Amino acid sequence: MDIRKNIALVGHDNRKQELVEWVEYNWEILIEQNLICTGTTGRLIEAAFDKKLKENRSEKIANILKLKSGPLGGDQQLGAMIAENKVDIIIFFWDPMQPQPHDVDVKALLRIAVLYNVVTASNRATADFIITSDLFKEAYDQHVSDFASYTNRKL
Ligand code: PGA
Repeated sequence: MDIRKNIALVGHDNRKQELVEWVEYNWEILIEQNLICTGTTGRLIEAAFDKKLKENRSEKIANILKLKSGPLGGDQQLGAMIAENKVDIIIFFWDPMQPQPHDVDVKALLRIAVLYNVVTASNRATADFIITSDLFKEAYDQHVSDFASYTNRKL
Protein backbone atom coordinates (compact mmCIF):
# COMPACT_ATOMS: atom_id res chain seq x y z
CA MET A 1 0.00 0.00 0.00
CA ASP A 2 1.15 3.55 -0.79
CA ILE A 3 1.75 6.37 1.64
CA ARG A 4 -1.71 7.63 0.75
CA LYS A 5 -4.04 4.91 1.98
CA ASN A 6 -7.33 3.64 0.60
CA ILE A 7 -9.49 3.55 3.71
CA ALA A 8 -13.02 2.21 3.92
CA LEU A 9 -15.20 3.77 6.60
CA VAL A 10 -18.47 2.05 7.48
CA GLY A 11 -20.70 2.34 10.52
CA HIS A 12 -23.92 0.63 11.45
CA ASP A 13 -26.66 3.03 12.52
CA ASN A 14 -26.05 2.67 16.27
CA ARG A 15 -22.35 3.30 15.78
CA LYS A 16 -22.35 6.02 13.14
CA GLN A 17 -22.04 8.76 15.71
CA GLU A 18 -18.96 7.12 17.22
CA LEU A 19 -17.40 6.79 13.76
CA VAL A 20 -18.18 10.41 12.90
CA GLU A 21 -16.53 11.53 16.15
CA TRP A 22 -13.46 9.48 15.31
CA VAL A 23 -13.33 11.01 11.82
CA GLU A 24 -13.67 14.53 13.22
CA TYR A 25 -10.87 13.86 15.71
CA ASN A 26 -8.59 12.53 12.96
CA TRP A 27 -9.78 14.70 10.07
CA GLU A 28 -6.36 16.21 9.33
CA ILE A 29 -4.88 12.78 8.72
CA LEU A 30 -7.93 11.37 6.95
CA ILE A 31 -8.25 14.24 4.50
CA GLU A 32 -4.92 13.19 3.00
CA GLN A 33 -6.24 9.67 2.25
CA ASN A 34 -8.64 8.14 -0.27
CA LEU A 35 -11.83 7.31 1.60
CA ILE A 36 -14.48 4.80 0.58
CA CYS A 37 -17.79 4.73 2.42
CA THR A 38 -21.12 3.02 2.27
CA GLY A 39 -23.84 5.50 1.32
CA THR A 40 -25.29 6.77 4.57
CA THR A 41 -22.02 6.67 6.45
CA GLY A 42 -20.46 8.60 3.57
CA ARG A 43 -23.11 11.31 3.74
CA LEU A 44 -22.47 11.84 7.45
CA ILE A 45 -18.70 11.81 7.00
CA GLU A 46 -18.92 14.35 4.19
CA ALA A 47 -20.88 16.63 6.52
CA ALA A 48 -18.28 16.09 9.26
CA PHE A 49 -15.48 17.10 6.88
CA ASP A 50 -17.43 20.15 5.70
CA LYS A 51 -17.77 21.23 9.33
CA LYS A 52 -14.08 20.73 10.10
CA LEU A 53 -12.91 22.42 6.90
CA LYS A 54 -15.10 25.44 7.61
CA GLU A 55 -14.02 25.66 11.26
CA ASN A 56 -10.38 25.57 10.19
CA ARG A 57 -10.82 27.72 7.07
CA SER A 58 -9.17 24.99 5.06
CA GLU A 59 -9.45 24.79 1.29
CA LYS A 60 -8.65 21.11 1.22
CA ILE A 61 -11.13 18.70 -0.32
CA ALA A 62 -12.01 15.33 1.16
CA ASN A 63 -11.72 12.52 -1.34
CA ILE A 64 -14.71 10.30 -0.53
CA LEU A 65 -16.09 7.60 -2.79
CA LYS A 66 -19.66 6.84 -1.73
CA LEU A 67 -20.95 3.39 -2.53
CA LYS A 68 -24.57 2.26 -2.16
CA SER A 69 -26.02 2.11 1.29
CA GLY A 70 -24.84 -1.04 3.09
CA PRO A 71 -28.19 -2.88 3.16
CA LEU A 72 -28.72 -1.98 -0.53
CA GLY A 73 -25.48 -3.60 -1.70
CA GLY A 74 -22.80 -1.22 -0.43
CA ASP A 75 -21.10 -3.90 1.68
CA GLN A 76 -20.93 -6.14 -1.35
CA GLN A 77 -19.50 -3.36 -3.50
CA LEU A 78 -16.83 -2.84 -0.87
CA GLY A 79 -16.12 -6.58 -0.76
CA ALA A 80 -15.64 -6.53 -4.54
CA MET A 81 -13.16 -3.66 -4.19
CA ILE A 82 -11.21 -5.70 -1.63
CA ALA A 83 -11.04 -8.62 -4.05
CA GLU A 84 -9.55 -6.18 -6.58
CA ASN A 85 -6.93 -5.00 -4.03
CA LYS A 86 -8.41 -1.49 -3.95
CA VAL A 87 -8.77 -1.24 -0.16
CA ASP A 88 -5.90 -1.05 2.33
CA ILE A 89 -7.72 -0.47 5.60
CA ILE A 90 -11.29 -0.94 6.81
CA ILE A 91 -12.67 0.91 9.78
CA PHE A 92 -15.96 -0.89 10.18
CA PHE A 93 -17.90 -0.09 13.34
CA TRP A 94 -20.48 -2.88 13.16
CA ASP A 95 -23.23 -3.24 15.73
CA PRO A 96 -22.57 -6.03 18.26
CA MET A 97 -26.00 -5.62 19.89
CA GLN A 98 -28.45 -5.78 17.01
CA PRO A 99 -28.93 -8.08 14.04
CA GLN A 100 -28.92 -6.30 10.67
CA PRO A 101 -31.11 -7.02 7.65
CA HIS A 102 -27.91 -7.54 5.67
CA ASP A 103 -26.02 -9.68 8.20
CA VAL A 104 -24.93 -12.08 5.49
CA ASP A 105 -23.32 -9.20 3.59
CA VAL A 106 -21.55 -8.02 6.74
CA LYS A 107 -20.18 -11.51 7.32
CA ALA A 108 -19.04 -11.73 3.69
CA LEU A 109 -17.27 -8.37 3.94
CA LEU A 110 -15.43 -9.35 7.12
CA ARG A 111 -14.48 -12.69 5.58
CA ILE A 112 -13.05 -11.21 2.40
CA ALA A 113 -11.14 -8.61 4.47
CA VAL A 114 -9.40 -11.41 6.38
CA LEU A 115 -8.71 -13.36 3.18
CA TYR A 116 -7.00 -10.37 1.54
CA ASN A 117 -5.08 -9.38 4.66
CA VAL A 118 -6.80 -6.01 4.91
CA VAL A 119 -6.06 -4.01 8.06
CA THR A 120 -9.38 -4.03 9.92
CA ALA A 121 -10.77 -2.19 12.93
CA SER A 122 -14.17 -2.87 14.46
CA ASN A 123 -13.80 -0.50 17.36
CA ARG A 124 -12.33 2.86 18.22
CA ALA A 125 -9.36 1.60 20.21
CA THR A 126 -8.16 -0.48 17.27
CA ALA A 127 -8.80 2.40 14.88
CA ASP A 128 -6.69 4.63 17.15
CA PHE A 129 -3.84 2.13 17.12
CA ILE A 130 -3.97 1.91 13.32
CA ILE A 131 -4.02 5.62 12.62
CA THR A 132 -1.17 6.32 15.05
CA SER A 133 1.00 3.45 13.84
CA ASP A 134 4.33 4.33 12.21
CA LEU A 135 3.36 1.97 9.40
CA PHE A 136 0.37 4.16 8.60
CA LYS A 137 2.67 6.95 7.46
CA GLU A 138 4.75 4.76 5.17
CA ALA A 139 4.33 2.74 2.05
CA TYR A 140 3.84 -0.79 3.33
CA ASP A 141 4.46 -4.01 1.50
CA GLN A 142 1.38 -5.90 2.52
CA HIS A 143 1.61 -9.64 2.04
CA VAL A 144 -1.21 -10.93 -0.10
CA SER A 145 -1.36 -14.60 -1.02
CA ASP A 146 -1.47 -15.30 -4.74
CA PHE A 147 -3.92 -18.13 -4.12
CA ALA A 148 -2.26 -20.09 -6.94
CA SER A 149 -2.47 -23.39 -5.12
CA TYR A 150 -6.19 -22.82 -4.60
CA THR A 151 -6.84 -21.62 -8.16
CA ASN A 152 -4.88 -24.51 -9.67
CA ARG A 153 -6.07 -27.25 -7.35
CA LYS A 154 -6.83 -30.58 -8.96
CA LEU A 155 -10.52 -31.49 -9.09
P1 PGA B 1 -24.77 2.74 5.46
O1 PGA B 1 -24.37 1.22 5.46
O2 PGA B 1 -23.54 3.52 5.64
O3 PGA B 1 -25.38 2.99 4.11
O4 PGA B 1 -25.76 2.93 6.56
C1 PGA B 1 -23.63 0.72 6.52
C2 PGA B 1 -23.75 -0.78 6.55
O5 PGA B 1 -24.68 -1.25 7.16
O6 PGA B 1 -22.96 -1.47 5.94
